Formats: sequence, structure tokens, C-alpha cells
Amino acid sequence: MDIDLSPDDLAFQKAVETFLDDNAYKPGTDYFAWRLDWFAKAREKGGWDVPKWPTAFGGPGWSPTQHYIWQRATATRQTPMDLPFGPVMLAPMLMQYGTPEQQERFLPDIRARRVNWCQGYSEPGAGSDLANLKTRAELSADGSHYVVNGTKIWTTAAHMADWIFCLTRTSDTGRKQEGITFLLFPMKQAGVEVKPIITLGGAHTVNMVHITDVKVPVENRVGEEGKGWAVAKGLLQHERTGIAGISNSLVALERLKKRAASVTRPNGTLLDDPGFRTKIAELEIDLMATEYTELRSLAAASSGAAPGPESSILKLKGTDIQQRLQKLTMQAGGLFSAAWGGGKVGPSFAREGMSGYLSSRAYTIYGGASEVQKDVIAKNVLGIARSETRMNKRGDK
Ligand SMILES: Cc1cc2nc3c(=O)[nH]c(=O)nc-3n(C[C@H](O)[C@H](O)[C@H](O)COP(=O)(O)OP(=O)(O)OC[C@H]3O[C@@H](n4cnc5c(N)ncnc54)[C@H](O)[C@@H]3O)c2cc1C
Repeated sequence: MDIDLSPDDLAFQKAVETFLDDNAYKPGTDYFAWRLDWFAKAREKGGWDVPKWPTAFGGPGWSPTQHYIWQRATATRQTPMDLPFGPVMLAPMLMQYGTPEQQERFLPDIRARRVNWCQGYSEPGAGSDLANLKTRAELSADGSHYVVNGTKIWTTAAHMADWIFCLTRTSDTGRKQEGITFLLFPMKQAGVEVKPIITLGGAHTVNMVHITDVKVPVENRVGEEGKGWAVAKGLLQHERTGIAGISNSLVALERLKKRAASVTRPNGTLLDDPGFRTKIAELEIDLMATEYTELRSLAAASSGAAPGPESSILKLKGTDIQQRLQKLTMQAGGLFSAAWGGGKVGPSFAREGMSGYLSSRAYTIYGGASEVQKDVIAKNVLGIARSETRMNKRGDK
């Protein structure tokens, strides 16, 4: 595997860094106006606003190395907040399964970040076993619309979303996976009630969504009725992309070292403490190994190989590393981290460290829980046969 950058790659890296530096956010200016402008300018660069989109839909057509360069450069610089639900998760499904009318209607607003989406998959009785979902969609007698009733849970950013992509049940016959239909509808309408769920870290990011007698025109169905499981699973593969967050972890590790070096001890700093140093070294080794797995996957993709089960390895290891980074940051804050909900005491990172640690508990749950990723690795990497009861879980391919 050759990981040296070619002269063309180095020129690309320079162009990316220049773009990011020239268009960085200026504190005190309107964040939301800057955000929209940033994406418009990235678009003018030739699809840099949608790096993973195919060229047929306006993507840049980058090589895997160029994607790697972009990820590293954006992780170390401030770029606009961008939720994955529209541009990363739904858009590829509209390209694959949507009608030309649906593509024309939804993709431009997703691309411009004018419309925010949320993901209506999980339900109180359907998480890892997603096909167990019960939210019902009944087709009207004249066949013009569905009437949707049910409850979704853990819906990230539902309170900020304009639209939802929602898995519904249209039939109870046959296998559970056969009666699922993929629908799109606006969030801001009578019959959609969003209730906040406050997580351990004190943040409001997830919600319960109650759906009562919501009418959804048949034009808003993606794929055929009862065939939504294929769309659902395809979207989950895109969801896993990026959750590993290797680039962000590399940046966070350097930040952690600086923070530990700023905590004084009788015989030096926390970074000199042999116990803490050992934990950082173990983390660094694991991160380096995972980074090389990511590089191997990029190298395989660039030589034309189909994506392999390494996305599950990356998700499993990447989220474990993120949790350990958060734990060490919390520990570096020492007892001050325990006061995170109160006033400002101790180093400034202590408060952030504790809330980050608590929030990071979710990393190994969403996007397919770690146990489910292990199932996928056992089957697809180690070749261990599984029982039928473990098939078709959320993380499965
Ligand atoms: C912060 C956060 C944000 C989320 N955002 C969204 C969102 O936007 N939209 C959405 O639809 N969902 C979202 N989710 C839901 C998430 O996808 C589910 O929580 C996840 O799929 C697990 O489902 P569950 O919570 O029902 O747990 P369960 O499936 O009940 O799992 C409970 C435990 O059993 C284990 N387990 C389950 N099956 C197996 C198996 N076959 N083998 C071994 N162990 C198993 C799990 O790993 C877990 O430890 C979010 C969750 C969190 C925490």
C-alpha cells in the first residue's frame, strides 16, 4: 500500500487548505449566513459541497486519496455544522431508488442545506431489530395517499427538521422485512408531535416523535410499496460512513496531550504521569492501527475493489477510540470534571470533558450497536455462521 502523496495530491491538498483558510468563519458575524455561503462557495469549486455524491449528480469525482486529504484538512479546521441525514444518508437513496421527479424536487434543497431532514427508523420496540417496526401506513381507498400512525424514538434533530424519512409498515404478511415502505413527509404539520429527550450529557439532540393520522401523498414514497427494507439498509451503510471519525480522533488526541501537559503535578505534568502516559500510548497505537485499516480500505477502493466489511470494523474500533478519548479528557480534568453542571472551576476543558464523556456513551449504540457490528464481522470477516434469528439486524448488510 503506497500512502505517499503524489505531486498532484500535494497540489490538491494545498488548494483545499487555501479554500478552508480563506473561507473560515469570522467570529461575530452571522453564523447561519456564513454556513449557507460556505456551501455555495464549496459548490463553485466543483462539487466540494457534496464530496461523496457521484459526478452525475454534481459531485467532484475525487479519488479515495483526495477524500482522505479532504477529511484530514476539514477535521483540523472549522467547517460549517452539517448533519448527515439529508446530504449523506437520504440523497444517495434518492439517486438510487427515487423517481426523476423526486430527485428534482428534493436534491437541490438538500444540497443547498435549505431543508433539514431527520431519520424516522427506531421505535420503542424496534432498534437493533429494526424490521420489528410497527408505525403503520394505510393506503387510501382511491390510492392517492397513505395515512400514517405510530411513534418514533431517538430521532436526532427532529425538533430542527423540516422533513422526515420514515420507515412504515404497510403489510403484516410474509417476512417482517417484506412489508416495510419508505415515506417522506414534512415535520411541521398537524399530527406530528415532537417531544424532547434530554440525554445524560444534558443535551437536547434526540426526540420522541408521535405521528397521528398524517396524510402522505403516494408521490412521497421512495421505491415500491413493501420494498422499503432495501432502501432502509442501503441508507444504513451510508450512515456508518464517517461515524468512525478517525480524522477527528487524530485531532482530539493531540488536543488531549496538550491539555494533559497543562495540568501540573508535583513532579511535572499529567502527561509525565506514567499511568496516564500509558493510556495515551495505548490509545495512540489503536488509533494508528485503525487509521491504517481506513487507509487499506481507501487503497482497496482506489484499485476498484468493492467496499468490504471493514466499515463495521471501522465503526466498532473508531467509536471505542472516541469513547476512550472522551474518558481520558474527563479524567484529565480530575475532580473539577465532577462539577461540570455547576460554576466555572478548574481548567476550562473539565466541563466539556464530563459532558463529552457522558454523551459519548451513545457512540457505540447509534448507527448499529457494537454487538451488532461484531455479528457482521463474525459473519463477513471471520466466516462464522449465524442463526436465522440474528439475520437482518440493523447493522447487517
Ligand atoms: C444518541 C442517539 C441518537 C440516535 N439517533 C437516531 C435517529 O436519528 N434515528 C433513528 O431512527 N434512531 C436513532 N437512534 C437509535 C439507535 O439506532 C438505536 O438506539 C440502536 O439501533 C439500538 O437500538 P435499541 O436502543 O432499541 O437497543 P436494543 O436493540 O434493544 O439493544 C439493547 C442491547 O442489546 C444488544 N443487542 C441487540 N441485538 C443484538 C444481537 N443480535 N446480538 C448481540 N447483542 C444485541 C445491543 O447491542 C444493545 O447493547 C439513536 C440512538 C442514540 C443513542
